[in-house]
Amino acid sequence: MISIHDHSGIEALRKRLRIDPQALRRLRGAFLRTFRGAESALEELPSAERVEFAGAVRFHDLELAEVQDSKLDGASKLLFRTADGRAIESVILRIKTGRTALCVSTQTGCAGGCLFCATGRLKGVRNLTTAEILDQAAQAGERLRGEGRPLRNVVFMGMGEPFHNEENLHAALEELWGRNGFHLSDRHLLVSTLGIPDAMRRLAHRFPRVGLALSLHSVRQEIRDSLMPLTRRWPLSELRAAVSELNALQDHPVMIEYLMLGGLTDTDADLAQLVQWLDGLRVHVNLIPYNPGMAGDTGEAAIRPSPPERLEEFLAALKRAGFRATRRHSLGGDIAAACGQLARRREPGA
Ligand code: SAH
Ligand code: SF4
Repeated sequence: MISIHDHSGIEALRKRLRIDPQALRRLRGAFLRTFRGAESALEELPSAERVEFAGAVRFHDLELAEVQDSKLDGASKLLFRTADGRAIESVILRIKTGRTALCVSTQTGCAGGCLFCATGRLKGVRNLTTAEILDQAAQAGERLRGEGRPLRNVVFMGMGEPFHNEENLHAALEELWGRNGFHLSDRHLLVSTLGIPDAMRRLAHRFPRVGLALSLHSVRQEIRDSLMPLTRRWPLSELRAAVSELNALQDHPVMIEYLMLGGLTDTDADLAQLVQWLDGLRVHVNLIPYNPGMAGDTGEAAIRPSPPERLEEFLAALKRAGFRATRRHSLGGDIAAACGQLARRREPGA
């Protein structure tokens, strides 16, 4: 079987079945842009070739195992199962303004091992294929079409470190943005990373309009090193140089994600050093309240949320210092769909 997202495979099949390129383009448009679903998309092909094409092509690489809708807000968590039995998740975010975003996963776990993150606790990390990444968008798009809501934004903030799966990430971005693919605006795509300087540069060179979010969380080297063990090899000075280079390549600011942890990242010294570190950079700071992991997942005793009023103080101080700063409102708290809670203790359906 050939995945619908495998361009060269599909093209070879098209030639073999002598399908008109226009008909194939219409099929792709129906499936990837208007999310009409496989059955309806196949109607774009002449009936003579339809059956053989349908028999040779795989439209979905993931099995949707479960959907959990938040009772608190407009979030839905989609639990998928891969062909080799791994569980991954995507989150649909129906934002009040009417915008609809999808948070996608790039790996089945994460080697980042950040102390505050549930995904980092999962064993047996594997990269998702390009088709597995894209199928999250295809299946979410189809669901949203049923609600009359177009999928507009795709954020790579689900399970995994996108730059640990760089080749498939780039291929997926190409397809999400491409005219012959999902045809979303590249301005509506955002990649969140623990901060790998060379990979950040490569992304900005290849996709200058795609957004980059850096999980900074602390500018005190020893604190960042202990919270995010994998980042030790890229000192904060090197990270800052990379953000500065991105600023030169892109016309939108780099998003700085900053997790508010009581006593660890929210002290006066943290604030002063953060303002200093950011000085001269074009950034949008997003302060993130800490979401406790599902019980038992992140048992780090020292890690606790910062009081909400402290977050407000940080916000005000950053604004006074001239930075764009916002607070992240996580959706889906009741279904463990919020940042850092994307991890499963059991396989879906088990
Ligand atoms: N690996 C990438 C993208 C996935 S994590 C990265 O680290 O950026 C997406 C975001 O969720 C990151 O900013 C991450 O630091 C944040 N996050 C992880 N655990 C969290 C938690 N328990 N509470 C709040 N945010 C968390
Ligand atoms: Fe991986 Fe990001 Fe979680 Fe760190 S925060 S473990 S990099 S998914």
